[in-house]
Amino acid sequence: MPEVIVDHALCTGCGTCADFCPVEVFEMRGNGNGRLYANPIRQENCWACDTCVGQCKRNAIQIIETGDEIAAKSQRDTATARPIPHSEKQLYASWHETLRTVLGLRWAPVAIKLIPQGDPLPDVPMPRTKLRYCQSLMMARRGKSLLMPAQCHACPDGTHILGLTEIPPKLASGELYLHFKKLASMDAARQMIAERPRLPEKSMQATLVTPLNKAVLTPDVVAVIAQPEQMMWLTMASSFYTGHRSTFQISGYNAQCVETTLIPYTRGEFNLSLGCYGCRASSDVSDDLMFMGVPIGQMPDLIRGLESLGRKAIPDSRNKVYLPPNI
Ligand code: SF4
Ligand code: SF4
Repeated sequence: MPEVIVDHALCTGCGTCADFCPVEVFEMRGNGNGRLYANPIRQENCWACDTCVGQCKRNAIQIIETGDEIAAKSQRDTATARPIPHSEKQLYASWHETLRTVLGLRWAPVAIKLIPQGDPLPDVPMPRTKLRYCQSLMMARRGKSLLMPAQCHACPDGTHILGLTEIPPKLASGELYLHFKKLASMDAARQMIAERPRLPEKSMQATLVTPLNKAVLTPDVVAVIAQPEQMMWLTMASSFYTGHRSTFQISGYNAQCVETTLIPYTRGEFNLSLGCYGCRASSDVSDDLMFMGVPIGQMPDLIRGLESLGRKAIPDSRNKVYLPPNI
């Protein structure tokens, strides 16, 4: 269980941490001198999401993670999942190579697997401290493989959306979104919640992210983190054989859990995301990057289309063949 420490010498009793904590860890109490201060009376609820730390203007809060909870619960009581066959690994490695070389991707494409309750877990390391799902994706693009059961997840929003936990009441009501001043009213907050997909509560046991060429289970979705020009080629590759235009669901909310993962997962169609407040505030992703989630069923045609584009259209465009002469 994370330890929540408030430095009462710094705390002004403004109550911001109590407003922003999604799981009601804090209660504002008087110190007997007519002054209020934040008291973390329900530490057992803490997700280590660091929202209070980020919002406290006085830097009065520390969240100390011992890792005990993760270590205790990571005693695997289910059988280890059987790794995918070598031929399947080779296929994903070849897709990985095509994406990186044809597009010139800086970051590894990421294989995402949502592991349902009761399924065996793969033999993949868990993080030593809690992470947000978006943070785990950003680490996988740098080459890390991470298995994250519910107790490893730090974001109450993404974790319930992905079906790992129940939705905290403050999120279900929409109240928390108003504190961040990201929406105008409770009605707007409720509408935003109603329109975004989420999996049934506790239907999933864990998330797994790995670089695509290190996939150990068949991915549900492949995520690509890339610049707009590279996304343009991926979008064209997806319609190379059909000529269809693409329609995306983008909101600026819940980019990685909803837009990159759950929309492709539930609809079987790829989706583009511009990122969101949460993933940009809590990871080192640069401002020029966008995100795409491709369901595994669409990958073979997308890769074939991309290979075809890479023979002429992509090099022609990048060589600026129609640039006018200087006049
Ligand atoms: S946000 Fe900071 S200053 Fe305000 S009550 Fe909480 S700990 Fe105190
Ligand atoms: S880290 Fe998150 S869950 Fe824990 S006390 Fe702060 S806001 Fe609440």
